Amino acid sequence: MKKILLIFLLLSSVSFGAIGEKLAWDKGTTLLAFFEQNSLPLKLYYNLSSQDKELTAEIYAGVSYYVLKDDNGDLLQALIPISEDVQIHIYKDDEDYKLDFIPIVYTSVQKILTISVQKSPYQDIIDATSDVSLANEFINAYKKSINFKKFVIKDDKLAIIYTRKYRLGKPFGSPDIKASVIETNKKSNYIFAYKGRYYDKKGKEVAGFLLEVPVNYTRISSKFSYGRLHPILKIIRPHYGVDYAARIGTPIRAAADGKIIYVGVKGGYGKTIEINNGNGIKTLYAHMSSFAKGIHNGMYVKKGQIIGKVGTTGVSTGPHLHFGVYKNNRPINPLGSIRTAKSELKGKDKQEFNKIAQTYMKELDDALEKSSFEDQKSFISIKD
Ligand SMILES: [Zn+2]
Repeated sequence: MKKILLIFLLLSSVSFGAIGEKLAWDKGTTLLAFFEQNSLPLKLYYNLSSQDKELTAEIYAGVSYYVLKDDNGDLLQALIPISEDVQIHIYKDDEDYKLDFIPIVYTSVQKILTISVQKSPYQDIIDATSDVSLANEFINAYKKSINFKKFVIKDDKLAIIYTRKYRLGKPFGSPDIKASVIETNKKSNYIFAYKGRYYDKKGKEVAGFLLEVPVNYTRISSKFSYGRLHPILKIIRPHYGVDYAARIGTPIRAAADGKIIYVGVKGGYGKTIEINNGNGIKTLYAHMSSFAKGIHNGMYVKKGQIIGKVGTTGVSTGPHLHFGVYKNNRPINPLGSIRTAKSELKGKDKQEFNKIAQTYMKELDDALEKSSFEDQKSFISIKD
């Protein structure tokens, strides 16, 4: 109870001689460095389990975090997100500091946007919502199936069903498109999200990104998980990647073409490389023993190119590659992203997908029908 109250106080910026601050996480800062800057006991960090230490390496540059300090400048509390769902909670309990992973409290609102295209789908979405990430996600989703510049003309109609997260009254994270349609050239082009990927109404994948297994591994020693919330303790332990056990020195290959955006030691991940693979996809390779010769920040690599070797640097219980995949900074299951070709849903997945698709299709059609587009060219409604 005490803990919940404190979080409330921090979040609502109510303070009793205490000062709450919202800050942006500096690039390259590790949690350990944060401990040093705030004179927190380093043993608190060192005593964390290796799983927890690895998780703390997920803090990303630029993320907003909150600290609460007393009059002497001593830290009373900190809330540092490691993803859109989970944050590190550091707090003073009597004289001791404690650290936990707790869920980020947010509300999620489902909306339906309808537009009669005036300038371009991209610009019209931004004009209607001020949501650049939504516009980007929409364009990405259709990129491989429709050439907007060529085929979309003025007064074509589109509708999007999506969810937006709100924290402290402000949107955060990336929007989730559930389904959308664009009517062009008398054809309704639907897409539906299913298990993190987009499909057309027949269940054929439309905007697949293909990743290659980055290492020749002996076994998967730990799978991806968003973590389950402990019902009483309200703590959570996700694992934002797949651990591939492999012998030390086994070559690690880029899972897709891309640009290297990080080479170096990254907290509990040890020697780490991050690659921006385009279209909002980022891959991360951790616990490496060494980087390949000539690998540096800003360079382009090809799918399959050797970028380093398997090791056990950082916090690691044995030699393995921790492989992470992120879509718009949100961790996704790498095993669901590794495909040999664009996939087509089958069996149970197909049945489940068909049900979802039918419901959304009706909602999209209804929304377009209800929008008159006479005076106004776009409408947003909240779906309940
Ligand atoms: Zn791992």
